[in-house]
Amino acid sequence: SRTTIETVDPATGRPLATYEAMDAVRVEAAVERAHAAARAWARVPVAERAARVAALARTLRTHRDHLARLTVTEMGKPVGEAEGEVDKSALTAEYYATHGPGILADEPVTVDGDVDGEVDGDGDVDGAEAWVAYEPAGLILAVMPWNFPVWQVMRFAIPSLTAGNGVLLKHASNVTGSAFALQSLFVEAGFPAHLVTALVLADTDVPETTARLIADDRIAAVTLTGSNRAGAAVGAAAGRAAKKSVLELGGSDAFVVLDDADIEKAAAAAVRARFTNSGQSCVCAKRFIVAEPVADAFTTAFVRRVERLRIGAPQDRTTEIGPLARDDLRAAIQRQTKESVAAGARLLTGGEPLPGDGCFFRPTVLADTAPGMPAFDEETFGPLAALAVARDDDDAVRLAEATPYGLGLSVWTADPARGVALARRVTTGAAFVNAIVASDPRLPFGGTKRSGHGRELAAAGIREFTNARTYWVA
Ligand code: NDP
Repeated sequence: SRTTIETVDPATGRPLATYEAMDAVRVEAAVERAHAAARAWARVPVAERAARVAALARTLRTHRDHLARLTVTEMGKPVGEAEGEVDKSALTAEYYATHGPGILADEPVTVDGDVDGEVDGDGDVDGAEAWVAYEPAGLILAVMPWNFPVWQVMRFAIPSLTAGNGVLLKHASNVTGSAFALQSLFVEAGFPAHLVTALVLADTDVPETTARLIADDRIAAVTLTGSNRAGAAVGAAAGRAAKKSVLELGGSDAFVVLDDADIEKAAAAAVRARFTNSGQSCVCAKRFIVAEPVADAFTTAFVRRVERLRIGAPQDRTTEIGPLARDDLRAAIQRQTKESVAAGARLLTGGEPLPGDGCFFRPTVLADTAPGMPAFDEETFGPLAALAVARDDDDAVRLAEATPYGLGLSVWTADPARGVALARRVTTGAAFVNAIVASDPRLPFGGTKRSGHGRELAAAGIREFTNARTYWVA
């Protein structure tokens, strides 16, 4: 097995750095230290934990440029988007520093009397006090992806540290430099050493080592953001060990444009929804389901905007589309495009890689897509938009639902009530009307169906990895 990890700049194909993978002995030492740090952290009062999280927000802002530049070279996103990721992480740290202690506070429950509210005559429970406490779960294994190297980690780590847990971070191998930078950042913000520990694993060791760690008594639970393949492997290992898992997996979000929508506005939003992060986000809109009467107008407006997108070096501030993060990811988008065209989709623009050593793929739009085509059935993780025409609202619901995924939904209409009514008929973890699907620390984020289970962010997210403990004191 390979014992080193080499990172590559996907914009140029040039090697960036080589890291030594941890062998079993070093993994064991890292787990032991992380576990000890997590046990000590669980006894730190929540106000003090929140103060460290507030300091993390400042540290993130101090290192914004360095972190952004690092993620740009490791996975190729446009630099402005990389800075946005750091800013959002800092805002989330501020959110939990302010609201975390309140969300985690004990919740008193009245138990004086029967469950139906009548005061009991026999006096059994008179004077008893009960409450729910949200206590730390322990050390959590976090398997994270490369598409938002800072945000994906922070979205999980910030609430989990606020809740009193430790984090064992198995980051994606192509962003190993970012993993180490984040590990140092937590220490600089004043968190105890080893409370956030990065594991660097050789690719051939990943499935076995993560399964072994999930079964280890020192690991309380696991969270994974990534593909369905990796999610199924980690979920199965958690099931075998009877442990909690949160899985944030792929999506194939529908962007539904109804016949009364403002077409120019919807088309502009559609471009942002599909092509942000060069198309590599679980909540990117992937399937555009457009009502027949406005289909031609929307398609023209959309394609015109897609053709104006500037593709180029991610360090260049005018760039809107960077390279894909790895060559195999570009090959997947190319295959999905080709196979969909072979199955009857119409290529309106793009459809091919740029020449040269970078992993660039031209922004691509396919019309006449339908269930049975890869662009419609699979997650498309790159600059590929699939259009389909709906006869009416019922048909739009049918098409939006025709996917194994269930992460987000975006509906565009002049009548918000009609948008909400349509959204109720489609199963997803989030529904946005006249807005693009996005995560926000104030709102729960997560999927249904094959998009995974459990929630991140807001109160629901911080409570996932707590022990909701019942106290009854008579
Ligand atoms: P993966 O799911 O393989 O990678 C995500 C993380 O899981 C990485 O840290 C990876 O480690 C790890 N991992 C992979 N296999 C296992 C396993 N068997 N057990 C434990 N951990 C594992 O995604 P890819 O990078 O291969 O991307 C493939 C596709 O996944 C994309 O095209 C996209 O469709 C989807 N995806 C979705 C994301 C989302 O935000 N929902 C994010 C990333 C990808 P390592 O890097 O060492 O292999």
